Amino acid sequence: MASDPAPPVPDDLLPARRDLAVRAAIEEGIVSEREPVAALLDVHAIRYAAAELRAAFAEVTAPGTPVLHAFAVKAASLVPVLRLLHAEGLGAEVASPGELALAHAAGVPPSRTVLDSPAKTRAELREALALGIAVNADNREELARLDALVASARTHSPLGLRVNPQLGAGAIDAMSTATATSKFGVALRDEGAREWVVRAYQDRPWLNRLHAHTGSQGIPMDLQVAGVRAVYQLAEEINEAVGRRQIDTIDIGGGLTVNFSSDEMTPTFHDYARLLREKIPGLFDGRYGLVTEFGRSVLAKAGVVLARVEYAKSSGGRPIAITHAGAQVATRTVFAPESWPLRVAAYDEKGRPKEDPYVVQDVAGPCCFAGDLVARERRMPLLAAGDWVGLLDTGAYYASTPFGYNSLPRPGIYGFRADAEAGEVQFSMVRDPQTIEQVVAESGANRRDSLTGLR
Ligand SMILES: *Cc1c(COP(=O)(O)O)cnc(C)c1O
Repeated sequence: MASDPAPPVPDDLLPARRDLAVRAAIEEGIVSEREPVAALLDVHAIRYAAAELRAAFAEVTAPGTPVLHAFAVKAASLVPVLRLLHAEGLGAEVASPGELALAHAAGVPPSRTVLDSPAKTRAELREALALGIAVNADNREELARLDALVASARTHSPLGLRVNPQLGAGAIDAMSTATATSKFGVALRDEGAREWVVRAYQDRPWLNRLHAHTGSQGIPMDLQVAGVRAVYQLAEEINEAVGRRQIDTIDIGGGLTVNFSSDEMTPTFHDYARLLREKIPGLFDGRYGLVTEFGRSVLAKAGVVLARVEYAKSSGGRPIAITHAGAQVATRTVFAPESWPLRVAAYDEKGRPKEDPYVVQDVAGPCCFAGDLVARERRMPLLAAGDWVGLLDTGAYYASTPFGYNSLPRPGIYGFRADAEAGEVQFSMVRDPQTIEQVVAESGANRRDSLTGLR
């Protein structure tokens, strides 16, 4: 056991810092009539979550246990965010050449990078092995490709296999990776699969990791723990069969569910780590190194998308606020509103929280389709033209799932450091707002005559 770290101090000031940043962003013109939407990221909240994550696992692991927290890059594909997390002691979990390049650009070393993805090409695998990046093979065919690469060139990449414990789905099907027919990993309960996996390790002395990611948002913590227990038991079985500690590191994936209904960060990393240790003590006794791959739970609470209300109208008796944040920035929320509800905060034109009586209304985005709503029949202060809305808890995935509909530009993203007590805020640009010229350029402007010229 590590010496008792101090219990985490709850980050009570998060809403106060957010309100302060919203007001300052409007005052300083970071958002305006001309720039009617932007995303803000609370640097303190990001640092806090990273520290919490590290402390939670330090508390439950035997002293000296190597633990790599590889942040899932798809949750925030932004170089400055990866850089900050690297400075806070996190690595990177990447799932494409683009994500690998982002991690590299952020200065995350290969030794702290893990490559997962169900569709790695031969070239990607070769590059990863040349760099020494950890790779988790997804399936039998990929493992055969690794065989060829390992035989042809020396590598110090830690290599593992992803398995699917087939434990079932959580609340959101699209986020559930451990269903019977999931596309990820080797399905462990399929006939003969377990024996095949054990044999695969016996035949490959260099295969020294085992990986599972039981799913993301909506997976109950008990199901996550069951997934980790399943990989742990399999690792024990494999090591027993080969007669040595061939698997030296277990990658438990990410997937801690985020509470999108209040400012409370529950469950916490401590809740999860403590439950894991209680249910799977052998995983923490020092025999295994650990890799984690959290994404959403590290970043979600740190972000707010701030958007101007352009018009406030009424239709069929329903008040509707037309804002500049819709499907282009809150893609999942608009297309799967039951799975991805967001809290919407109402601010007046100066960015002060609105305190008017609550009214049932819709909050719509700028896209030209009727379903472009970020909130339906929501009880909140009546919005008026010139007000602002804040889409809360949007620090993870919202920037990495843009939607190019209506050629709306991707908004700027700004980090902020706010001192809630002193009332001071400092901003720093994380990603430039896309310009209309850039939208035109990436829409084939340099190929203007390519079709008229085909005859
Ligand atoms: C998406 C993903 C993660 C991160 O999931 P979160 O729910 O954001 O924590 C981790 N590992 C793998 C393999 C993933 O696909």
